[in-house]
Amino acid sequence: MPIDFQLPPDVEEVRLRVRKFMDAEVRPAEATLQEREADRNSYVRTIMELRTKAKGQGLWNPHLPAEWDGMGLGPVAMAFVSAEAGRTGIGPFVINAQAPDEGNMHTLLHWATPEQKEKYLRPLAEGRARSFFSMTEPEVAGSDPTLIQTTAVRDGDDWVINGHKWFSSGAKGANFGIVIACTDADADPPQARNSAFIVEVPTEGFEIIRDVETMAGHGNHPELRYNNVRVPADRMLGGRGEGHLLGQYRLGPARLAHCMRWIGNAEIALEMLMDRALNRYAHGSLLADKQAIQWMMAESAMELYTGKLMVLHAAYKIENKMPFKQEVSMAKHHVANMLWRIIDRAIQVHGALGYSTDTPLERMMRNARAARLVDGADEVHMQTIARNMIAAYKEHGNTRSATGDLL
Ligand SMILES: Cc1cc2nc3c(=O)[nH]c(=O)nc-3n(C[C@H](O)[C@H](O)[C@H](O)COP(=O)(O)OP(=O)(O)OC[C@H]3O[C@@H](n4cnc5c(N)ncnc54)[C@H](O)[C@@H]3O)c2cc1C
Repeated sequence: MPIDFQLPPDVEEVRLRVRKFMDAEVRPAEATLQEREADRNSYVRTIMELRTKAKGQGLWNPHLPAEWDGMGLGPVAMAFVSAEAGRTGIGPFVINAQAPDEGNMHTLLHWATPEQKEKYLRPLAEGRARSFFSMTEPEVAGSDPTLIQTTAVRDGDDWVINGHKWFSSGAKGANFGIVIACTDADADPPQARNSAFIVEVPTEGFEIIRDVETMAGHGNHPELRYNNVRVPADRMLGGRGEGHLLGQYRLGPARLAHCMRWIGNAEIALEMLMDRALNRYAHGSLLADKQAIQWMMAESAMELYTGKLMVLHAAYKIENKMPFKQEVSMAKHHVANMLWRIIDRAIQVHGALGYSTDTPLERMMRNARAARLVDGADEVHMQTIARNMIAAYKEHGNTRSATGDLL
């Protein structure tokens, strides 16, 4: 198979433009906010100003087609844009490609009716609204959506939703959410039990119980109750019984988008490791001269490189409409764990400073821990990967189709 690792000129051009914008505008603004320990209003104001600049430079909605005010990029170009944006904390917000809105826009683009698109996708695309995705419940394993207990029952022209959710990220202050509820408890297969609904908020019966505090602080991951929330029938998203399918569809590109941002995070941590090692002197030489530290650099380099190739290959497969689930699972698992290990090594090389809150590393580490849980826990991806391996071996007598299908 011929392989060309040169980026097409248009992808390279957009990558450089995003990098330049992040370096020239976003990073300095972010540094100023951090220095001043800015309040929420200053944060919002700064993001709004940066958004205006991003729009002015055509760096807006990289994930959406031109008719939705987007840059019309495919998954491969998106990989580069997300990684560049992921080198900053607020970069994804500035170009309107932040989770969960990016995944929700993508979902609405694919599943919504023309009327739903105009009403819900348009304001998201214009940056006038925010949204959330509400699937996980405290009482049952989020890893198995067939267990979902939230119900939606038809009543005249409405559906009535009752249930208890949590980690509905972004729900506080959002304009609407995509809510997954059980409409057909006896459906066979069980994957056809759930349907998706667009719920405008605030609305009667929609109750935010609390913002769940996590090890990374309050990140707007609310616990919610839906108490007889009425939703008109035309706000079902996709068909009845397609909630599971919609969730799976949403998670493909969304998982990859997360991976790309995590690659940007890992790069920052590795650059900090390098900087510290090249400037800290102990026992007769710089840390960078010590083999133990060089091994950390080498391991991090190999893991980061592997992660980049895996993400790009998965993006290539999505872009070219090839089967991609195995590659996305492998990339997601690898990148989430690689991120954790690289930040950990950077902390180690910084010594006590790394454990302190004087550098961003401790915050990055607390945030990185979620990567091994969100968009499928490690073990669930491992299970998928192994199942595909078994199926490949049974069918072909080898594992090639489940190991990237490359050679
Ligand atoms: C920061 C953050 C943001 C989130 N945002 C959202 C959001 O916006 N919307 C939303 O709906 N949810 C969100 N979630 C929830 C997330 O999707 C779930 O945490 C995830 O699906 C796992 O579900 P659970 O927490 O119920 O864990 P469980 O399903 O109870 O799993 C617990 C553990 O059991 C193990 N396990 C599970 N299944 C298997 C298996 N088959 N084999 C072996 N081991 C297994 C794994 O180790 C897993 O970590 C978020 C979570 C976090 C941490």
